[in-house]
Amino acid sequence: MKRRSFIKKSSISGIGLALTPSLMLAKEPEHEYSVLELMGKEDIELFGEGINLRKEAHDAFLAMKKAAYSDGIDLKIVSSYRSFYRQEAIWERKYIKYTEDDGMSPLAAIEKIIEYSTIPGTSRHHWGTDIDIIDGYRKTNGDVLVPEKFEAGGPFEDFKKWMDENSKKFDFHLVYTKDPKRRGFKYEPWHYSYAPISIPMLTAYRRLNIVQLLREESFYGGEHFTTGFIKNYLRNNILDINTALL
Ligand SMILES: [Zn+2]
Repeated sequence: MKRRSFIKKSSISGIGLALTPSLMLAKEPEHEYSVLELMGKEDIELFGEGINLRKEAHDAFLAMKKAAYSDGIDLKIVSSYRSFYRQEAIWERKYIKYTEDDGMSPLAAIEKIIEYSTIPGTSRHHWGTDIDIIDGYRKTNGDVLVPEKFEAGGPFEDFKKWMDENSKKFDFHLVYTKDPKRRGFKYEPWHYSYAPISIPMLTAYRRLNIVQLLREESFYGGEHFTTGFIKNYLRNNILDINTALL
């Protein structure tokens, strides 16, 4: 748990100590997600060292990890919660590299970045529900998040097979599927989402005025976003995902 958020939450909700755990849980389905929370700017409470997920997603992940373990697969998290500010740093590093080192135009650089990376404030990793995972037992050189490594003959072939058969039992679903008709982000055989929380969060996210919210940001390249670009991005990259998560 992050100490900072624990102190903050307990100081403003001391009355919560008087509530029984069941009453506190009963409030959860009515949970409203704030704009800051949906954009990765809120210091949310995260659970598990090296896991960093919301409580319910953390518990489901541990149960799934245990089941995989008995089948010889070590579910290892490569990436989970990521704040707006972390995503902003990733975005700007890529933007500077593509425009300054590689001499690409701003729009070409933006198109290249969004093949795999999200615009800050639009990542599902902001929600504490999504993970990038591999099989920690399998040793491999170089980058691990490469689609070919999850195909037949690749180091994560067994992992992929296991997840295809079992992840749904734990409410984890692949987000960016292999469907050739799907637009937006490319196929990511490593990115899974905990549906019971991420579905209501996506519903809340869709109600936001993302065009306006992104206009208020000042990261590199953002000044080149047109309304049409952002609307296309939302339709393709945020909403054209596995329908089990809509
Ligand atoms: Zn991911």
